[in-house]
Amino acid sequence: MTARIIDGKAFAARVREKVKDHVTRLKEDHGITPGLAVVLVGEDPASQVYVRSKGKQTVEAGMKSVEYKLDADTSEEDLLKVVQQLNDDPEIHGILVQLPLPKHLNEDLVIGSIDPAKDVDGFHISNVGLLGTGQKSMVPCTPLGCLMMLRDHHGSISGMDAVVIGRSNIVGKPMAQLLLGDSCTVTIAHSRTRDLPEVVRRADIVVAAVGRPEMVPGDWIKPGATVIDVGINRLDAPEKGEGKTRLVGDVEYESCAKVAGAITPVPGGVGPMTIACLLANTVTACCRANGLPEPEGLTA
Ligand code: NDP
Repeated sequence: MTARIIDGKAFAARVREKVKDHVTRLKEDHGITPGLAVVLVGEDPASQVYVRSKGKQTVEAGMKSVEYKLDADTSEEDLLKVVQQLNDDPEIHGILVQLPLPKHLNEDLVIGSIDPAKDVDGFHISNVGLLGTGQKSMVPCTPLGCLMMLRDHHGSISGMDAVVIGRSNIVGKPMAQLLLGDSCTVTIAHSRTRDLPEVVRRADIVVAAVGRPEMVPGDWIKPGATVIDVGINRLDAPEKGEGKTRLVGDVEYESCAKVAGAITPVPGGVGPMTIACLLANTVTACCRANGLPEPEGLTA
């Protein structure tokens, strides 16, 4: 068997188009422009790239984009003031504080200060609780993107056995909640899981969110299973030239693609879906704030 490749790049482009259509309707019918504010503290190069990309895609979708770039030594008090200002701004519907924050800032405190209705990353404890109890919430972008791809590929995933490898608050746990919400039978595996290969072999759906390059080989995969690779790992690639690198996921693509029914590649799988879902969450937050119907197919 050769797996069908789930093209996250193309899927993300479709999500962005849907977002753009909805934004146009919000403007034309209601005179509302959704607004996203991204707050970056410090000069982490990877974060700067993400923030630039988020801003660009927000504008391309017809939304208002605001960026706050604060010095690395910004005090907690000043950062909290910026968040409060954004919480109070009626033109801002989504607030994202780019993580990681410099060490002297308490991430839990800062995320906890965001209005949960504007928490488009879905990291606020209220949203975590709402998701955990099956209520309407803001859903973390990466797991939301994975769910959208699974729904698109399978139609319904109800009753399927899903194994999520990784139990982080930003990917593994919310992913498991979303799969449970769609009535999968869910196992969450982690570094203490006994006989991980056997656990993974039971799965109709495998979501790998570990951060270990090519950790999952093809012989862990049940024939025909769907493999969603969240991992983004940069490896040296001397074959491409001195100092060059390449991206790989948490699954060994070549061997898994021979056994799986469908698989997301790295790059070009889950990665592009994350920002697309951030835009989707911003539109959802804007609709909720204005008491308008939410866009179909863009929420969990
Ligand atoms: P974390 O480091 O926060 O979590 C990793 C998880 O993997 C932990 O729960 C850990 O278990 C588990 N783990 C580590 N080693 C093993 C092992 N040998 N066997 C089984 N489980 C193991 O990572 P994140 O969740 O933040 O990210 C995971 C990956 O996803 C990374 O590659 C990251 O770059 C990528 N990522 C991609 C995004 C995208 O947009 N596509 C967005 C976010 C992340 P334990 O809890 O026991 O330590």
